[in-house]
Formats: sequence, C-alpha cells, structure tokens
Amino acid sequence: MAREAGSFLGVAVLVKQVPDSAEIKMDPQTGTLLREGVPAVMNPDDRLGLETALLLKDGLDASVTALSMGPPQALDVLSEALAMGADRGVLLSDRNFAGADTWATSYTLGRALERLGQQESLDLVVCGRQASDGDTAQIGPQVAEHLGWPQVTYVERLAVEECELRAWRRLPGLVQEVLCPLPAVVTVLASPVAPRWPLLDRLLMACRSEAPLEVWDAADIAAPAASTGLKGSLTRVVRTFSPKSGRVTSWLEGSAGEQAQALINELRNHKLI
Ligand SMILES: Cc1cc2nc3c(=O)[nH]c(=O)nc-3n(C[C@H](O)[C@H](O)[C@H](O)COP(=O)(O)OP(=O)(O)OC[C@H]3O[C@@H](n4cnc5c(N)ncnc54)[C@H](O)[C@@H]3O)c2cc1C
Repeated sequence: MAREAGSFLGVAVLVKQVPDSAEIKMDPQTGTLLREGVPAVMNPDDRLGLETALLLKDGLDASVTALSMGPPQALDVLSEALAMGADRGVLLSDRNFAGADTWATSYTLGRALERLGQQESLDLVVCGRQASDGDTAQIGPQVAEHLGWPQVTYVERLAVEECELRAWRRLPGLVQEVLCPLPAVVTVLASPVAPRWPLLDRLLMACRSEAPLEVWDAADIAAPAASTGLKGSLTRVVRTFSPKSGRVTSWLEGSAGEQAQALINELRNHKLI
C-alpha cells in the first residue's frame, strides 16, 4: 500500500554477520579460508546501511527493524544494532535455511520482510551493497525482485520526501540523484556520517532477556523447505580452488632485430598475435 505523506515510516535493515576480515587467514595447503576462531562482526556495508536508516529515524516518525539470517550466534549483530539505535531485531534461524545460495537467501529474507510488512507498515528496506565474505552483491536486488518493489543501488545518502525517496547514488566519477516511489529497496555503500557507536545503556538493554529480539523459523515465515537452504538453491558449488599462477622468464638473445623477431615468434606461439 502506498505511504501517505508525513505518516509513520517503517524501515527494515538487512544485517549479516561475517568473519572479521582483519583476522582472516588462509590455509596454505588448501587455499581455503580458516574460519575457526575468527571473530564475527557486523558486515561493514550493513553498518553504513544501519546508520543511513537511523539518520532517517532521527528526523522522522519511524521505526527501524534489523533483520538477519544466520545461526543463533548472529543474534550478536542484532544486539549491536539495537545498541546503535534500532527498535527491534529479528533473526531468521532454522536448520532448513542452511546451505542457501543467494537465491534461497533472498527468498527467505523476502518472506520475513513480507511478514514484517503485515505486522507493521514497511516502506523501506536498506541493505548493504555487498557482504565482505560472500561478496556477490546480489541479495539487495534479489530481495527487491521477490518483493516486487523498485530498487536503488550504490546509495550514499537518502531522504524521504512526501511519498518519495530521494537517493544519491555513487557511481564511478559521478553522483546521481534519483527519485523513487515507496516502498522500495536500497543498497548502501556509504553513509553521510561515520556510523554511530553503540550506547552503553542501549547495549545493557540489548543484553537483557526482555530485549526486543525475536528468532523466527521457517514456519513463522511460511517458507516451504523446498524453497529455502540447500534444497531451494538454484546453484551448487562444484569445487573451490586457488587458481595456479606462475611466471616464466625467458631472455631474448642477439641483435635488436633478432630479439624483435624472437619476441614476435614467442607471441605467435602463444597465440597472442
Ligand atoms: C552455491 C552456494 C552455496 C552456498 N552455501 C553456503 C553454505 O552452505 N553456508 C553458508 O553460510 N553460505 C553459503 N553460501 C553463501 C551464501 O549464499 C551467501 O552468504 C548469502 O546468499 C549472501 O550472499 P552474499 O554473502 O554474497 O551477500 P551480498 O549479496 O554481497 O550482500 C548484500 C547485502 O545483503 C544483505 N545480506 C546478505 N546476506 C544476509 C543475511 N544472511 N542476513 C541478512 N542480510 C543479508 C546485507 O545487507 C548485505 O550487505 C553459498 C553460496 C552459494 C552460491
């Protein structure tokens, strides 16, 4: 339903828990990430998205819900979101959600957003542009498709005007200012100010059992097992490997003319010319 000018603004911010990239180490034998013992943090782009949403809330009658899909420990990033100023946190956690590719992840997030929209008005979904571990930047646009809402990507600043969204998009070498009807989905790559620090009193509140944190499973969002997790994934990882890289140096001998001819032959042999 279209939002009326000046009315309450319902915002959901997608927040992913990711391994702290500053602490990541590679297994020299297999070339894979060593995740064990690596601390988990809020995805950096999502911190920017949350700040962008909280800035809107600072100037409007609005509520901000942080939504994450992940294992139970992902509640930590939702507590942090509450401490920064979010009103509510919802974690999607269910064994059926495990092994999801981006399609199944965005479907599951989309079902939860539909449920949020039924509970209270939902006008805007803010995602980070990209997760620092998965790195696909597909979730925001896919969530918009699942919801059937317009999307604005690469946003660095947002304003809500009457029933419209004004967004500033950071593109290579330029900034584009666009208007978009609400409800809408945006993906954020920067925020006008540095993300705020969690406040101590809110941090204490977020740790209490009565904190506004909920865990929803597949039944809560009426998501069939065939559409979520590994079963609902359209892609399969066949294998993961580090590409072999190497450099062979050969020296060209002879006069300048002979060296030039040898170089041409070499390039021809490698089908480069
Ligand atoms: C074939 C395949 C199999 C996979 N199997 C597994 C697996 O077994 N286990 C596993 O952990 N991962 C698995 N993944 C990775 C998983 O699909 C991605 O982590 C997930 O879909 C999000 O994609 P992304 O990290 O690239 O997010 P991006 O698209 O880069 O993220 C953009 C934004 O979307 C939002 N977002 C993304 N993910 C979430 C989330 N979970 N909750 C809330 N907001 C979110 C955030 O705002 C984020 O900034 C698999 C991926 C593929 C392709």
